Amino acid sequence: MKIATSLARMEDEASVEASSVPIGTVTSTNPTATVTSPSTAMISSTKFDEAFYPGRRLTATIFKGCLWVHVREYNDLNGKSYPTKKGASFTPGRLRVFRSMMDKIDTVLRQQEVNGSYGVDLGGGVMLKEHLGGGIYATVCEAFHGVTLRRHWMPPDGNGSIVPTKNGIYLPASQWESLKAKMDALLAACPELVNPGHCSDTHYNQMAMLECRECTPFGWLSL
Ligand SMILES: [Zn+2]
Repeated sequence: MKIATSLARMEDEASVEASSVPIGTVTSTNPTATVTSPSTAMISSTKFDEAFYPGRRLTATIFKGCLWVHVREYNDLNGKSYPTKKGASFTPGRLRVFRSMMDKIDTVLRQQEVNGSYGVDLGGGVMLKEHLGGGIYATVCEAFHGVTLRRHWMPPDGNGSIVPTKNGIYLPASQWESLKAKMDALLAACPELVNPGHCSDTHYNQMAMLECRECTPFGWLSL
């Protein structure tokens, strides 16, 4: 109940004005206090914030001058909701990659339905694993009818193996559909996400691609 109220309030705030003040600062009833100082606006402001499932939100926030999109779970504490580690963060370019993968992800999820393969332990086979950027992968596994968005990393002593971190979120197919349904509203609120540039646009040779932390975070080909 508290989550719903809190989300409704935040959605109201987000829809009032794209340059709304950061969440958490709109607590005063004094009208003069709601004026955003330029310095505060530069640190953080919310351009989009909608729940795609109770306690799970799609948000767009400007942080230190850069736009970030988050797919994230929130915890409710004392009437306020706080972001958790369960989630994934996207630069505009990374979101472009993510959106370009959505059809492919849908195809695999449909394939699961046709096969009736999910829920059956087939050894945890990975049906889809796509790097979205910065070590974040979208994966679909045989045993689960849904999509996982998760950051991976390469432990220094792991012989070059790439392993999942705790920073990630599993979206059952129904939540995946709800998330996709929010994309148009997100793009309407943030037109700069419609056709953003991507760092790969300026990687004119393979070396530039290999040196890019976004595209090649683990330096695969240098091993
Ligand atoms: Zn790159």
